[in-house]
Amino acid sequence: MKVISELSQLLFPSRCFGCQRLGPTICSGCRSSWHPHYYRTKFDSLTVHSSLLYTPTASKIIVAAKESGLRGADELIINAVIHALERSKLDLTFTRLVPVPSSKSSQRRRGRSFVVDLVHQISQRTGIQILDCLELSRRVLDQSGLHRDERATNLAGAFRVTSQVRGELILVDDVVTTGATLREAYRAVKSQGLESVGSVCAVTACVAQPLR
Ligand SMILES: [Zn+2]
Repeated sequence: MKVISELSQLLFPSRCFGCQRLGPTICSGCRSSWHPHYYRTKFDSLTVHSSLLYTPTASKIIVAAKESGLRGADELIINAVIHALERSKLDLTFTRLVPVPSSKSSQRRRGRSFVVDLVHQISQRTGIQILDCLELSRRVLDQSGLHRDERATNLAGAFRVTSQVRGELILVDDVVTTGATLREAYRAVKSQGLESVGSVCAVTACVAQPLR
C-alpha cells in the first residue's frame, strides 16, 4: 500500500485541500486560517457550540472531508468539534453524542455516513458515548443549494428517531448555517417526551455568520 501511495503522489501530486495549491494536503496559510476559537449561537431554544466561522477556506476543508473523503480534512473537523465540546463547559459525564445523519443518497455517493463516521471517532477519543438514533424518514434535497425558507421546508419533519432516547443529548453536525437541520433534529429527539429526554444542545465544527 505504501508503494501505491508513493506512486500516486508522484503521478498525482497533492494539493492543499483549502486553496488547491500544489503542496502538502493543507498548506500553512490555510492551516492558520483554520484556527479554532469558540462561538455560541442560539436557534430558538437550541444552543449551538462551534469552533470556527464558516469561511471559504473552512467550506473547502469540509468539502474535502465530506465529498473527497480526505482523512487529513476529517482530522481537522474532528479536532474542531472536540475543541468546541471542551470550550462549551458542558458537563459531559452523562451526555451522549447524537450524529445528524445525511440523506441515503449522500451516504451512497460518499461511501459512508459522514457525520456518523466522525462522531464515532470523536466518541472513541473523548470517551463520550454515541447514540446513533436519528435517520431521515423521507427523501430530502441537498441543503447547500437552497435558500433559508426552502431549507426549512425541505427538512420539515424529515428526521425519525430509531431507538430509545433518554438523558442529556448533544446533536453533532459539521456546520450550522440557517439552523434548519439542527432545529429539525432537535424537534425529532424532543418529540420522544420531556420525561425521558433531558437537556439537548448541539455542537458543530463551523458556524456561518448570521445571514444578513
Ligand atoms: Zn492552502
